[in-house]
Amino acid sequence: MTMFVDVHAHLDHALFKTDLDAAIERARQAGVKAIVANGVDPSTNRIVLDLAKKYDIVQPALGIYPPDALETEAREDKYPIELKPYDLDEEIEFISKSGPIALGEVGLDYKNGENRAMQKKIFQRFIDLSEKMDLPIIIHSRKAENDVLDMLESSSAKKIILHCFSGRHHLVRRAAGHGWSFSIPTNVVRSQHFQTVIDIAHISQLLTETDSPYLTPFRDRRNEPAFVVESLKKIAEVKGLTVEDTANNVFMNYQKMFL
Ligand SMILES: [Zn+2]
Repeated sequence: MTMFVDVHAHLDHALFKTDLDAAIERARQAGVKAIVANGVDPSTNRIVLDLAKKYDIVQPALGIYPPDALETEAREDKYPIELKPYDLDEEIEFISKSGPIALGEVGLDYKNGENRAMQKKIFQRFIDLSEKMDLPIIIHSRKAENDVLDMLESSSAKKIILHCFSGRHHLVRRAAGHGWSFSIPTNVVRSQHFQTVIDIAHISQLLTETDSPYLTPFRDRRNEPAFVVESLKKIAEVKGLTVEDTANNVFMNYQKMFL
């Protein structure tokens, strides 16, 4: 059976409140072997750890999303969570001791947040941690792609996953040249940009994600991990491979990166 993997999902999101069990079951039925649930702050990090205990196919990624951007998204109800103050050092200590499979979601967001200095300071801590613990780092880089690449280039972190990377083509080429990975979201079905990312990157650099409940491939439906197959179909089409060969390649990339 073909094996799929969703390396970036937000299973703690309110849109999964009533049917998470069923959504996980649908993912299983579809052939999804691993869902990497990403935390964005202390409270979601703890939910992610609980979900990973509860469901064998859920793997925990823990991180701190740019706090000012998260505040905007919470306020605009895109990510309806209640934000509480916390101590950054304590949270990073907690993350490093909780056995995550990866660090994420972390990065820079200059569209929804303005405090670039603070965002960079936090992101740097996670780059350092990724290097020190040899853990994959799942990176968000909205309207901040150049700074993200600059920071990564000055580090020796190697397990780099650019999630939903929307930087211009020369930036995609620059990241690809370093051998870093791109996780291709399900909305690739209608995004010429992500299809170009697939084209530029080598198959060994590609991973798949849903970013559930966001970035749905189907306009009128909430996204969920079972839909990750849509990313694989598009990668297969662009690379001229069968879906099965593509899935095998992506699964191997996942194992190499995460296990
Ligand atoms: Zn995300």
